[in-house]
Amino acid sequence: MNKEKILEAISKEIRACRKCGLWKTRRNAVPGEGNPNAKIMFIGEAPGRNEDIQGRPFVGAAGQLLTKMIVEILGLQRRDVYITNVVKCRPPGNRDPTEDEIRICSPYLIRQIETIEPDIIVCLGRHSARFILSHIGIRFKSILSIRQRIFQIPFSRKKIKVVATIHPAAALYKPPWRGFLEADFKLIRKLLEEETSKKKPTTLDFFLQK
Ligand code: SF4
Repeated sequence: MNKEKILEAISKEIRACRKCGLWKTRRNAVPGEGNPNAKIMFIGEAPGRNEDIQGRPFVGAAGQLLTKMIVEILGLQRRDVYITNVVKCRPPGNRDPTEDEIRICSPYLIRQIETIEPDIIVCLGRHSARFILSHIGIRFKSILSIRQRIFQIPFSRKKIKVVATIHPAAALYKPPWRGFLEADFKLIRKLLEEETSKKKPTTLDFFLQK
């Protein structure tokens, strides 16, 4: 099965999932969307109201800001990246997801990461960063204390670079934080450029392909 088909199968399971109590209050589960071969994966915390209505990730005001950063700072389109959340159904009233909900739902995310095998994971917000960085035993109190750092996490067959930044919704509520988000996206752009230049074919690759 190719990556697209595997991701579709995971999305189908998520849409029908009733493993934790969040299915009772959701309108739509939000599996995630984007390029199955994305070099970069954005992982938020959980869907909000607009996402629950549309069944798509990051479609409200925070999503518009995320899309703007992807286009203007990374020079990519939304369709070039993959966007999802740790928890796939909206917690009522936009409360934080519980530890149990994260534990029960996160195997879907792990399967998505293992399928896409991105070069870079960007954690949007503390819940996402807590979950992803727990794989290498990193603990932190504030997301501000771990931004502008690059972590490496082994996921199935490769080491993935991980950057944590603030959730775009936080940048909307606290305008000074928007500068943090922009600075973090500039770091992500640098990482992307490094990954791309590593993969540029050399003259030797050209002859090896022949
Ligand atoms: S949040 Fe995750 S585990 Fe809970 S019902 Fe939705 S998809 Fe299933």
